[in-house]
Parts: sequence; structure tokens; C-alpha cells
Amino acid sequence: MLDTESDCASWDTREAGVTRQISKADLARDELVEIDDAHVWHPFTPHSAYRGDDPLMIVAGEVHYLVDADGRRYLDGVSSLWCNLFGHRRPEIDAAIVEQLGRIAHSTFLGNASEPAVRLAKRLVDLAPNGLTRVFFSDNGSTAVEVALKIALQYWQQHDGGRERQRTIFVTLGNAYHGDTVGAVSLGGIPLFHERYGPLLFETARAHSPYCYRCPFGLESSTCRTECATEIERLVAEHGDRIAAVVLEPGMQGAAGMITLPDGYLRRAADAARRVGALLVLDEVAVGFGRSGSMFACEREDVAPDILCLAKGLTGGYLPMSATLTTERIFEAFLGEPSDGRTFFHGHTYTGNQLAAAAAHATLDIFEHERILERLPRTIERFHTELERLRDHPHVGDIRRFGLAAGVELVADRATKTPFEPSERRGMRVCGAAKERGVFLRPLGDTVVLMPPLSIADDEIVAIVDALEHGIRQICPVSD
Ligand SMILES: *Cc1c(COP(=O)(O)O)cnc(C)c1O
Repeated sequence: MLDTESDCASWDTREAGVTRQISKADLARDELVEIDDAHVWHPFTPHSAYRGDDPLMIVAGEVHYLVDADGRRYLDGVSSLWCNLFGHRRPEIDAAIVEQLGRIAHSTFLGNASEPAVRLAKRLVDLAPNGLTRVFFSDNGSTAVEVALKIALQYWQQHDGGRERQRTIFVTLGNAYHGDTVGAVSLGGIPLFHERYGPLLFETARAHSPYCYRCPFGLESSTCRTECATEIERLVAEHGDRIAAVVLEPGMQGAAGMITLPDGYLRRAADAARRVGALLVLDEVAVGFGRSGSMFACEREDVAPDILCLAKGLTGGYLPMSATLTTERIFEAFLGEPSDGRTFFHGHTYTGNQLAAAAAHATLDIFEHERILERLPRTIERFHTELERLRDHPHVGDIRRFGLAAGVELVADRATKTPFEPSERRGMRVCGAAKERGVFLRPLGDTVVLMPPLSIADDEIVAIVDALEHGIRQICPVSD
């Protein structure tokens, strides 16, 4: 048996995460590694480097820690890829899933309904920005976006007798990331991830990424007149009544390297979309559910979209589920006699899965019972303060902070902002060094991402930043 019952408060994370030994023989690490090497193809993973990067073989979780097959414990500094809001093996979420298992695990949502998902729809509508009254469930962030795209396009074909069916253009941003299915990839603007699928993709109208550290307009903060916001306003005005929707990640472009949008950018882009009658689709897959410090990031600029995409945190990081929320006006364009063919012909086998819905309810209960949104500002402030001490390192080019998320961009030369050679894999190696200090991180290129669980404790924040500081010192020495 795994001996993982421990008091997490007594754990000193500044020591290497090796004190708690679990019998290796029991866990058969070598056998798992052999199978992994022989048969598994991992996502976003260069397999020639995979084994050398000493990947984790996780066998258990313990609140904010992951436990691997060698019995080592690692602080989960990226919330298991941005979704685990309140830790692993949360008793309330575990219990909710077990209770639901005592009723039913899954039945179809196609033309039918089930209890926890129906109630979850009501709960999401109550939480969401004004006007969003309809919930379409699917399985992950990419499909939430795919659904948004298809709803937007079909809406314009059916709304008002199809008088605006010429609205087929989607306005997106450079460096956008909306998922890995083909529609979501079309919206995406990260060449490394998206370029090679060109022949499969549809065209979009694309504004530059508002990447302040490497401003596409060559401006510095002293000369910046938010030219990026002016550009998207111009682009939207230019395409006007041919635009189906403007699609944005509000607050922060996550997968691009935690690129934070300038204050007021979202508001201006939203107003531009309204002026030409286009829909506004906001992808809060990464920033929804408290990450920004508010329940949804768009609230921070008082923007309510026509379509809102939610996923990652929805089930507290337990089970795959996503939701695409929209307005009654949009929903109504899909009504009519079944023979009219106005139906939204889209759905997934596991849509509305009851176990996932139960996990989502338990997650939203934690937000309520523990007054998470009231407590977050203090945690965020502590996190931001702690990050400050990285600022003076000569290879730290930029520290981007957005709520309880941050990206630390490493550079070869701070004065010229010259990046490191990608082949040196500095970001990955810094995370490797942090792992030796008992903290699990995963980079985006040479930007190291920090995205701790919302329930992270102060001493754990310190441990994460300590490990990162150690990693940067070791892999990017001052003399380099
Ligand atoms: C992660 C992410 C997605 C894709 O979600 P998956 O569940 O990985 O398909 C879409 N949009 C944003 C902003 C994301 O961060």
C-alpha cells in the first residue's frame, strides 16, 4: 500500500522531495517505464528527449503534491496543467464522485437529460456574466471552442432569415491558443504548434498579439499608446459585417507564454465587435474559475461575451468536461420544425457525463463554502511579491503575472532581449532542476509557467519560487 497519509503542513518543501520512501518493488516503476517507452505516445512531447528529461511516473496525489513511483513528492506548481484548483484527493470532490457512482456513471445527453448536468447548467448560468442563459456541454477546452465556432457560423446562417449569412470571418490574435482540434487550430496563432496544419485550416483575420515585452509595433511602455488595441479596432471595422465573431482569450494569452493583455484591451476589442454587430467569443478555458482573481476574467473589464468557453478548472481538475455558454438570442436562431434542419448537429458521446458534473458541483461548492474569491486577492498578492525576487537575475527577461498565474521568460541577453538558442532547451532544463528541489513545473519554450492551485499555502508559494530560483541559477548562470 502507498503510505501517503501525511500532514502536508509539516512537509518542508525546501528540502529535496525525497524523504518519504515508498517501496519501489510494490510500484514496479521499471515495468511501467518499459511499457511507457514501448507503447505510449505522449502529447506535446518530443519523444527523442522524453526519457532524458526524467519524466514523472505518477502513482498518487496528496493535496498540492504529486507522488511518483519512487515515492518522491513534488509540489504541483502548474495545477496538473492548469486545471487542479483545490488539490488532489479533495475529500469533498472524491465523495461527490463516489456518491454519483452509487446512482449512475453515464447516460446520454443526446435528446435526453440527467440530473447533475441539468443542475450544473443552472449553476453555471447563475455564475456567468449577464445574458448567458444556455449551456452546451462537451469534453474539453478544444471542443468547447469548436462548439463556439460552429454555433457562431450557423447562427448567422439562420438568424433573421439568413440576411447576414455573409458573416463568416473570425477575427483572432497572433499567439492565440484555443486548443488542438482543427477548428481551434485555425483560430490559433502559434506557428510552432499550428503552421504545419495549414492545408486543413480556414483563414482568419488576425491582429498582432499584444505582447508588450516584444511589442510587435516596436513600442516601449513609455511610448505605448496601446497601438495593439487600435489595430484590432481597425481590423474589426475594416471587415465589419463580414465578421461572424471576434475570438479572444481575455486577460492573458496562456499557451503563448502567459502574455498578459494591456488593461483596457479587452474592453476596446469588445466594443469594436459590438459596433459592427459581430459576436464576441471569449475563451476562458485557462483563466476561468478564479485564476484571474475573479470568477471569470472578463468580469475584470466588465465585458459580457455572446459565447463563453469554459473547461480546465470546471471539474476541479478531476474529469474531462467543458461548457460553451451562450445567449437566448443565439439559441433561438436554432429553433424551428425539426424538418427545417435548424438543429445544432453536434454532440459527443460523453456530453453531460454525470461523474464529471458531480465533480463540477463539488468544485463550485468549495468556491462557496471556503469563500475562495474573497481569499484569493491575498494569495495573489503574496505570489506576486514572492516573484519579485527573480527580477534581478540577468537571464530573467520578463515576469508576467496575471492573478494566480505567471510566466517567467528567460533570455540570453537581457539588454537586447535576445532569446536563448531553442536547442539548449533552457526552460525545460530549469524545470528539471526545480524538480530536483521537489517542485513540478512545465515550461512553454523558455517561459517557465507557474500556475499553482488556488488553495496554495504561503510556504508552498515560497517553495515554488525557491525551486525556480535555484533552477534558473543552475541552468542559466550569470556568466552565460
Ligand atoms: C488548454 C486550452 C484550450 C484547450 O483545452 P483542452 O482541454 O486541452 O482541449 C483552449 N483554450 C485555452 C485558452 C486553453 O488554455
